[in-house]
Parts: sequence; C-alpha cells; structure tokens
Amino acid sequence: MKYKAPRGTRDILPADSWKWEYVEEVFRETAERFGYKEIRFPVFEETELFARGIGDATDIVRKEMYTFSDRKGRSLTLRPEGTASVVRSFVEHNMGRSARVTKLRYFCPMFRYERPQAGRYRQFWQWGMEAIGSLSPAIDAEIILFSVRFFEGLGLKGTEARINSAGCPSCTPAYNDLLRKELEPKLERFCDDCRERYARNPRRMFDCKNDNCQTLLSDAPSILDALCDDCRDHLAKVEAHLAAISVPYVIDSGLARGLDYYTKTIFEIHYTKLGAQSALCGGGRYDELIKELGGNSTPACGVSAGVERLISALEEEGAFRDTAPGPDIYLVAGSDEAAESNVTLAARLREKFSVEMDYQGRSFNKQVQEAGRVNARFVIVNKGEGEPLKLREISTGWEASPGEGKLEDVIRDRMKG
Ligand code: AMP
Repeated sequence: MKYKAPRGTRDILPADSWKWEYVEEVFRETAERFGYKEIRFPVFEETELFARGIGDATDIVRKEMYTFSDRKGRSLTLRPEGTASVVRSFVEHNMGRSARVTKLRYFCPMFRYERPQAGRYRQFWQWGMEAIGSLSPAIDAEIILFSVRFFEGLGLKGTEARINSAGCPSCTPAYNDLLRKELEPKLERFCDDCRERYARNPRRMFDCKNDNCQTLLSDAPSILDALCDDCRDHLAKVEAHLAAISVPYVIDSGLARGLDYYTKTIFEIHYTKLGAQSALCGGGRYDELIKELGGNSTPACGVSAGVERLISALEEEGAFRDTAPGPDIYLVAGSDEAAESNVTLAARLREKFSVEMDYQGRSFNKQVQEAGRVNARFVIVNKGEGEPLKLREISTGWEASPGEGKLEDVIRDRMKG
C-alpha cells in the first residue's frame, strides 16, 4: 500500500517552503508596522457560524464546506475562510469592551471542497487582516495601503486598487429592486447560477465569471447612482485618503465580492501585468456582520487573499532569488580525524551561524562539490593532523586562515562587509 496526499492537497517541500517562509515574514513585518497583531483561531468551528457569517446563498456554504459530525453528533466545519472565525473570537472574548480598534491578522490554511485544478486546492492558504471597531474611512484606506505595501515589499511594484461601494441596508434594497426590474426582460439569457442570484441577491450577478452574463450586465444601473448620502460620503473620503497617500486606484462600479456580508467599501488590488486573473487580494467593510453573529453592532473592515496565487505571481515575475538560501558554512573534512573534530566545530559554530557538514563519509572532493550544491556561502576545510583550518568564500574565492580563536569574528566581519 502506497499512501498519497488526499486529492486537492499537497506537500510544500523544502525546495519551495523557503518561498512560503519569506512571504510570511514580509507579511508579518509589514503587518507589525501597521499595528495588526496575530490571531490563531481553530481549524474547525460550529457549522452554523459559517452558514450565518458567510451567507447561505454563497457557493462556499452551498457547495464547498468540509462539514462533519463529531462523536457527539455536533456539526463542525473546517474553516473555509477567516473572517467569521475572527468575528466569533472578537465577540466571544468581548474584545469590543475596550474603546480601541482591534486590529488582527492571520496567515493559515483554509479548506474548501472544490474541483482541484491549476491553482485551486482543497487545502489552500490565505493571509488576511481585520480592523474591528471603527467607521472611519481612514481604516479602509489603511487596509488598502497595507496590501499595496505588502505586495511592494515582495517586489510587485505597479499595483492598482479597484474600488466600489456595496451600499448599506438603507440604500441596497431600493437598488436591488431597480436592478431586478431592469434585468427581468433578459433574465432567461443569463446562466443558471445568475438566475438563482437574481432571486437571492442580484448584485452578486456582477461576480459571475461567464462572459455572456457580463455582456448582459453592461448597461445595468450602477450602484454608485443609488448610494445613500452616508455611503456616498464614505466612498468620497476613502478616495481622498488614497489620493493623499498616493495609492493608484480606479472606481469600478462592476466590482462585486463573492461573500454576502460586505457594506460600503469593497476593493480588490490588481497587478495588471498578470492579465485576466490579476486580482491579488480583495476585501471591504462589513459593518453588519458582528451584530449578525451575536455581538454588539460594531463596524469593521478587512482584506484576505490566497497565498498560492501570490506565490505563483511572484514566480512569474522572477521576484524570488533563483535558489533556496544555503547555509552560511559547509564543513569539509580531509581525514577521519577531521570528520570527528568537525562534530565539535559544527556545534560551536552553530551558536552563531547556519552550518552543514557531511555525515556519510564522502570523499574530500564530493564534500567540496556538495558545499557548492547546497549553496553554502563559505567552506571551512579541516584537513586534521594539526593543519590550520582554511576558510573560503565560494562565490569570490576569498580565503583566510584565521586560527580557531578568531574564526567567528573573521566570518562575521566578512558577512557584514
Ligand atoms: P474568497 O475568500 O473566495 O474571496 O477567495 C480569496 C482568494 O483565496 C482567492 O482569490 C484565491 O486566491 C484564494 N482561494 C480561494 N479558494 C481557493 C482554492 N480552492 N485554492 C487555492 N486558492 C483559493
């Protein structure tokens, strides 16, 4: 019997995992600069949380959840996204009792039962952040700027924010009515999914991937003409902030998001060089969700995105270095005695540096080759028999024999210089 990773899942092996570590590190550093602290929430939650928090009408809840009963018959679901869990935690721990804005981030796997295809998995990763407790358009602009800076930090320069408003409960009912009225005459020409969306939430028809549906929607009334004064004013202030911090953006009245809970600002950040699939992240405001999930009415705004998509964009753009980073030092032994003493030398050097060595009794030449293959910066040649250690920087051929007592200092100076 040979086991395989379950369909739609995969291993991220060391040849690639360094890219994931790098992306997560840039995410962490950037988020810290913007004041977003990490939250780690459970891998599964009560099914009801996602049904309410994501919306019964969404594809996620209707078709894609990994739902199971535990031994006591409770219905549990592997998390398909992060916002519902963050809000559940916010309410459960009464984080709203402080007058502050709660700013949280996450970077973790999500689970959706989808047909596996290029870039789509059943276990995939998302990064995301949520700012809970402020109505200020400054928060919306901050989250958009964070996303832009995060992508820039990874080497993707030239992103564009696309922004729309999802309205609020005081302006969307009238807009939904108007939209239904205008679309009704051509309803039978839309796809099956859109006809269902028409009944449940006609604004989600804008999110359809079908070109024919998009053409049919091209002269549909714009939500921007239907916004109440409050939503209109909010959007204008977000725009003013973005202009003031020089974030390139366009208003896109056809932008819709796949989840039901958005109000006011919705946005996506696009990296236009990627062509049709250029969205790197999306998010927006969800001022009604916390009340919907049993908390006090609290405004909030967030963003999330897939990490697989981001990593393949970075690969396409040549944003990663060519090879996995290697150890600082590879120890080469020229005799059995040297191989023995390298055990002690490695232990000592590993207090300060990353060190690799041979464990298989390979020949001297094979060890030197291996040092190059693993991309070590320095080799230390230990011939044994009282010969001084020789330090060599592989890329430049620079050499030194500093004497054992000075070894660390000389390596450190060379690494700094
Ligand atoms: P959503 O939460 O549906 O808005 O998805 C946000 C992002 O998560 C998408 O744009 C994808 O990059 C990523 N994503 C969603 N589902 C999958 C999946 N099954 N496999 C890989 N990435 C996914």
